Amino acid sequence: MQPISVDRIMEKTIIAGPCSVESREQLREVTAALSRMPQVTMIRAGVWKPRTRPGAFEGLGEPALRWIQELAKEFGVRYCCEVARPEHVALCQHYGIDTVWLGARTTGNPFMVEELCQALRGSKMAVLAKNPTSPDVRLWLGAIERLRAAGIDDITAVHRGFAMYHNQGYRNAPLWEVALELRREMPEIPILCDPSHIGGRAELVAPLAQAAMQLDYDGLMVEVHPHPEAALTDTKQQIDPAALAALLSVIRDSATSQPAGSDQHLAPLREEIDTVDHEMLTLLARRMELSRQIAAVKHEQGMAVYQSKRWEAVMNDRLRLAHEMGLDENFTKELLEKIHAESVRVQLETH
Ligand code: PEP
Ligand code: MN
Repeated sequence: MQPISVDRIMEKTIIAGPCSVESREQLREVTAALSRMPQVTMIRAGVWKPRTRPGAFEGLGEPALRWIQELAKEFGVRYCCEVARPEHVALCQHYGIDTVWLGARTTGNPFMVEELCQALRGSKMAVLAKNPTSPDVRLWLGAIERLRAAGIDDITAVHRGFAMYHNQGYRNAPLWEVALELRREMPEIPILCDPSHIGGRAELVAPLAQAAMQLDYDGLMVEVHPHPEAALTDTKQQIDPAALAALLSVIRDSATSQPAGSDQHLAPLREEIDTVDHEMLTLLARRMELSRQIAAVKHEQGMAVYQSKRWEAVMNDRLRLAHEMGLDENFTKELLEKIHAESVRVQLETH
């Protein structure tokens, strides 16, 4: 794996900037630093902040938009802002902002998305749609479909993770598979990763950004504050401009680069993977056939299909084995649960 070159990063969309605009000085300082980084495509700047609980800093509103307009001219940079209400869209247009994003709490609410779409209709604005807080790809797809129906054609998705009861150590569990499903459904929509809101901690930003590059994301949206420790919102997850520069210089992009001869090296391994998959499916089919035979015996003996003690013993035995084999416990458990559910379904169908 080669570190990604500056040229390759330039093909990616890198949006960076503070969670919230806090003062003219703060915005000027971070803009000055980011404007010196050629990889940065656009500066994010939250002006209205959707706080989960009331009483915290909720953004400066219109005065912040005035500074944005002024600094955009001074530094020759572009800014984007979060919009959550139709009047936010009008104000952004008034202050010359041509790119806005829908936050996670907005994308999850079709009423709000629809209202925003009416406000955006007929404009030439570019829109970024963050994923909804719940891992429901249909809400995300739905927001994009509504934007399209309103005539917006520059649409980008932003993966910022999902609020789960167990967040796997992240602020918002990444659940990469949900974003990959969005990509399968709408391959033409670019997807950026927001490692700041996924990780929730500054030290997780770089590894998550790197993971996103490995998954061939089209770019990043990163929270960058000139003095993260003094930030009024999302203090723990913001990084300073120097940390962003370091991140951009080390993120690797092996997924899109295809060094000459790579297919040749991969071919024998891929053949082996094909064989293993065929064997796995043959074994699964055999396992389901055994389930059918078991169903017949249980029926004859008047036994219930689901035997909790037996299932518990099977699970414990397989988990112990999986552990010895170096397989991930959660993965093994989920896989076995799926197989068992199918086995129960097959047995119920048999009788
Ligand atoms: C943000 O970008 O600062 C923000 C509030 O994000 P999200 O909508 O992803 O929570
Ligand atoms: Mn934030």
